Amino acid sequence: MQLIWLRNDLRIDDNTALSAACERGPTIALWLASPGQWQAHDDAACKVDFWLRNLRELRPALEALNIPLLIRKVDSWDDVPQALLAVCRKHQVEAVHWNDEYGVNEQLRDQATRTLLEKNAVQAHSHLDQLLFRPGTILTRAGDYFQVFSQFKKTCLEHLHRSLPALAQRVKRQAPLAISSDPIPQHIDGFDKPSRALRDHWPAGEDEALGRLTRFLDETVEDYQQLRDLPAKPGTSQLSAYLAAGVISPRRCLHAALASNRGEFDSGSSGVQTWINELLWREFYKHILTGYPQVSRHRAFRAHTEALPWRDAPAQLEAWKQGRTGFPIIDAAMRQLLHTGWMHNRLRMIVAMFLSKNLLIDWRKGEQHFMRHLIDGDLAANNGGWQWSASTGTDAVPYFRIFNPITQSQRFDPQGRFIRQWVPELQALDDKSIHAPGKAADLFTDSVYHRPIVDLGSSRQRALEAFKGLPRRHEEGAAS
Ligand code: FAD
Repeated sequence: MQLIWLRNDLRIDDNTALSAACERGPTIALWLASPGQWQAHDDAACKVDFWLRNLRELRPALEALNIPLLIRKVDSWDDVPQALLAVCRKHQVEAVHWNDEYGVNEQLRDQATRTLLEKNAVQAHSHLDQLLFRPGTILTRAGDYFQVFSQFKKTCLEHLHRSLPALAQRVKRQAPLAISSDPIPQHIDGFDKPSRALRDHWPAGEDEALGRLTRFLDETVEDYQQLRDLPAKPGTSQLSAYLAAGVISPRRCLHAALASNRGEFDSGSSGVQTWINELLWREFYKHILTGYPQVSRHRAFRAHTEALPWRDAPAQLEAWKQGRTGFPIIDAAMRQLLHTGWMHNRLRMIVAMFLSKNLLIDWRKGEQHFMRHLIDGDLAANNGGWQWSASTGTDAVPYFRIFNPITQSQRFDPQGRFIRQWVPELQALDDKSIHAPGKAADLFTDSVYHRPIVDLGSSRQRALEAFKGLPRRHEEGAAS
């Protein structure tokens, strides 16, 4: 018997470990709930619910192939090896297959599992699946992990020009087994059920993910370069939650994008090229996580930035979290996150920079809040995005390029359509004053809206001074 241990790969299409298991013989599938570990990782309740909803779609699809899906519960990943061994013993499993995951705890878990299984004569096979390239295969001439995205991307494209990563074999229906599937839990204690509206925004299942990909490539990708920065327009794929949970594979996305551009990476549709670029940012940050594991341990990539004098300002942090900073674009974005479990990429950068620069609050507090609310929460991308915005990361924005949230708002939400959707108390303002309602004083006296919690000019200056004050001799200490 073969066992596929499902994790963030909740699909049948192009699933390397599943195909490998099925090619070797009769297969059963296993999924482990580990609520204590998820709490420790700040996994969002809406993300846990998304996993469960996807499992409910996956179970009948696996059963149609006669693959039963077993569910077990452990608290932390320390208990995973024993839980797997118990299933292997019960069902005489000869080999366990899984798709690699990145991050220090994930790798420790998998290593401990492998050791215990092999000690008990069960084979363990891990597979490359979440990424196009195995970390460690895209390196500088000196053999180091890239720290600059453009160089990483150039090397990836050279590899892709030579050969595209192949899709996994289609899984065939196997003979029925006398093992029944377990029920999928409706809910996991400690993780509140998200609102109906949030769930409706993110329907589960592979068909939904493939449908989103097809619609995006048919209808939107042509204009992606123009639309991708405008939060009021649905100009991006909204596939991140599906990619993070593995409901769709990056290979499937890449193949489909290329097919829509006559196989071209660097000519033809500029929209497709830009979108592939984003898939490579996803790739980049997972390679960074592996090559520079300090970022997986809450450390800054640029070690010298650990000396920044972060402010302890709980009231301002709370105002930021709840979307009542008095800056409409920030408040709209933060409310979008709380209501939908997602935030537009441009806005993620604006709010992250506002927290880490204008408020000078430790980026880790923002990273944690995002993780606790994002349906697409992913350690590598989230940490990468936060460290980029806070200028503590690899290939990060220079510390002196501080976005002004009002100018960003005027530029990327010119008519204030996005603001009006999420900050309805500003509905009546005209397109000009909606970005900075500071002059509409009656809004504040009537407590309709909040006064700005910070002065943009002086807080910008404070951030510049904080960065300038860092000990320069450590500036090259990025990877220490
Ligand atoms: P599209 O524009 O359609 O892009 C396609 C895919 O490429 C995305 O689904 C995603 O998988 C990947 N991608 C796009 N941009 C990036 C990027 N900058 N870095 C890494 N991958 C990218 N993305 C996450 O998936 N999870 C996170 O937890 C996350 N946290 C972020 C935090 C901050 C502070 C910032 C600035 C960015 C973060 N991102 C994160 C990246 C990006 O904002 C989202 O991937 C994107 O908004 C998802 O929308 P989409 O699927 O419509 O993207």
